[in-house]
Parts: sequence; C-alpha cells; structure tokens
Amino acid sequence: MDLTTAGTDIARVIVRGEEISARLQELARKVEADYEGRDLLIIGILKGAVMTMADFSRALNRHVEMDWMAVSSYGSGTKSSGVVRILKDLDRDITGREVLIVEDIVDTGLTLAWLKSNLESRGTKSVEILTMLRKPEAAKVDVDVKYVGFDIPKEFVVGYGLDYNEKYRNLDFIGVLAEHVYS
Ligand code: IMP
Ligand code: MG
Repeated sequence: MDLTTAGTDIARVIVRGEEISARLQELARKVEADYEGRDLLIIGILKGAVMTMADFSRALNRHVEMDWMAVSSYGSGTKSSGVVRILKDLDRDITGREVLIVEDIVDTGLTLAWLKSNLESRGTKSVEILTMLRKPEAAKVDVDVKYVGFDIPKEFVVGYGLDYNEKYRNLDFIGVLAEHVYS
C-alpha cells in the first residue's frame, strides 16, 4: 500500500521504499564481504522482519539458508518487558552455524539481547544482527547490532513489516503513525 492510500493515518514518512531498497543493497555488499567463503544462515524474526528478510535475501548475491523464529516480547501493553517467549522455534539445529538474525526494529534492545544469547547457547559459531531500524534507546543496552538500516527518532512507526494491531504491515514505506489512530 502506498502513502496516498494510507492517507491521514500516517503523520509523516520516515523512510521511502526506494531508500529502503538502496540501503539493503549496501548492507548486502557488506554482508557478502564479511562472510566471504563461509556458510551463512539468516534467521528472520516473524512477523515484522518478513519484508526486510524478503528484500535483503534477494539483494544478497550468494547462497544463503533461511529459517524463521517467532517470539513475543510484550505482555498486553506496548512496553517491552524483556521477558521473551518463543512462539515458533527454528526448524533445524544450529550447532556450529554462522547466524545472522534479521529484525525489523530494535527499540529497547531487550528482545534481541535475549534472542542473541539464546541462539549462542545452542553452540553457534557466530551470531550477528541486522536490523532495518534502530531507535536511540537501543544504543543503551548491551547488544551489538552489526548492520543497521536506519537510525530513527523515538516515535511509533509502521509499515514495511511493522504493525499497529496487525495493520499497516503492507505499507511500501515506513512512517510515523498519526496520533488519531491510537488515541
Ligand atoms: P524491544 O527492542 O525489545 O523493545 O522490542 C522490539 C520489538 O517491539 C520489535 O520487534 C517490534 O515488534 C516492536 N516495536 C518496537 N518499536 C516499534 C514501533 O515503532 N512500531 C512497531 N513495532 C515496534
Ligand atoms: Mg519484531
């Protein structure tokens, strides 16, 4: 869905679709260089990272394996608790693997910090993180995010996989949700 159709639900655009594509190409070149000659497993975190995973994996000019996990970090509210539940685990054993987690957004970083150590505890050779978006607070927690698409302000954003009550995931850009939608 484009901005015209989304209309007044979007207060302002943060990242346009073309900017996302261009940035993913840059990140793909970095990942290709960093993992040259090594097998790579990319793990997408459902559901938010679906778009990033689809476009990033296609930007990669190399073989890669793909798997998916679904985790829930929130109770009922909109605040991250740091308590993470696995809703869908990986299909395969990852012992000895080089893993790149693909996420939509790092907010507090609590989810990723937990996820990274969870995957490391399975005997992986390496675990790195790629995220499309990062909010300022994420810098405060002790989670090393190697590949970042865009640093954005501390506002609630939707689109390109990111939702509000399961809506807006299919926007072809990322924008700030208008206040009238949730107030
Ligand atoms: P945290 O890094 O543990 O705070 O949690 C990150 C998760 O919260 C992401 O994977 C999203 O599902 C969700 N999230 C955080 N900020 C936003 C936002 O601005 N829009 C939509 N979802 C968000
Ligand atoms: Mg997520």
